[in-house]
Amino acid sequence: MDTDRYRVKPGSKVGLAAWDPADDGGLDKVDGQAQLEKERFELARLQELLYADGRHKLLVVLQAIDAGGKDGTIRSVFERVNPQGVEVTSFKRPTDVEVAHDYLWRVHQHVPRSGILSIFNRSHYEDVLVVRVHGLVPKAQWSKRYGHIKAFEQMLIDEGTTVRKFLLHISKEEQRVRQQERIDDPSKNWKFAKADLEERKHWDAYQAAFEDMVTKTSTAASPWYVIPANRNWYRNLLVTTVLNEALRGLGLRYPPPEEGIAGLVVN
Ligand code: ATP
Ligand code: MG
Repeated sequence: MDTDRYRVKPGSKVGLAAWDPADDGGLDKVDGQAQLEKERFELARLQELLYADGRHKLLVVLQAIDAGGKDGTIRSVFERVNPQGVEVTSFKRPTDVEVAHDYLWRVHQHVPRSGILSIFNRSHYEDVLVVRVHGLVPKAQWSKRYGHIKAFEQMLIDEGTTVRKFLLHISKEEQRVRQQERIDDPSKNWKFAKADLEERKHWDAYQAAFEDMVTKTSTAASPWYVIPANRNWYRNLLVTTVLNEALRGLGLRYPPPEEGIAGLVVN
């Protein structure tokens, strides 16, 4: 599985039109799903090791357009993982108290502590996405945030955090299909708000904001991956595989046993 072709190389300029959202890596769906199931078990194994080892922290950032599949990715990728070592934070519209602070204030308190894998469902990147698209703060203000965010993430990395960031990339047609499903299927109505149709009108502005985001903030230690996400199984397979590669790179190990326990017999 070649995940590196989906990684945004630092210094390269991303134009999303060149990234096929329907890409399936030439894999057959049945094979892909079988591979995904293996990777899920591997993630569960590595996550237990992360927890037991207790020396490292993993931060996973998910961003996508409305109906881009953030929730489904979390549900599928982490299906086999022990919830005890995982924390999910969904960043919604900020509260009055949150907007009264700097934009990283609400984020910092949710970064992972040692042994923990934290998932950000939306993140501090909303502050260069929705905030930019809707002009919630002036450009002079949001344009400085790419630099802050890089420095913030570098600080987390220097303090022992591994960071992997995923932009789930769907086509405009796929968003149409998914939003229509949310309207037509009563069990999906709860995911839909009329405002989502208004947001869809800003499709191009969101694509431009995504392009700048990944172009300006993908670094060697804190890479963005642009994940083709029209096909849920391929999206899930790629995200799971990237996380496994990252965890394997940490040299995780079970902590050494307490001294003198070898040969003890429990009566
Ligand atoms: P889905 O994508 O599946 O619809 P969701 O993440 O959109 O799920 P919602 O409650 O529908 O969940 O949306 C959360 C909303 O919060 C989004 O419209 C997002 O743009 C907004 N939001 C998140 N962070 C910020 C921020 N910093 N400033 C303003 N709005 C924000
Ligand atoms: Mg929504």
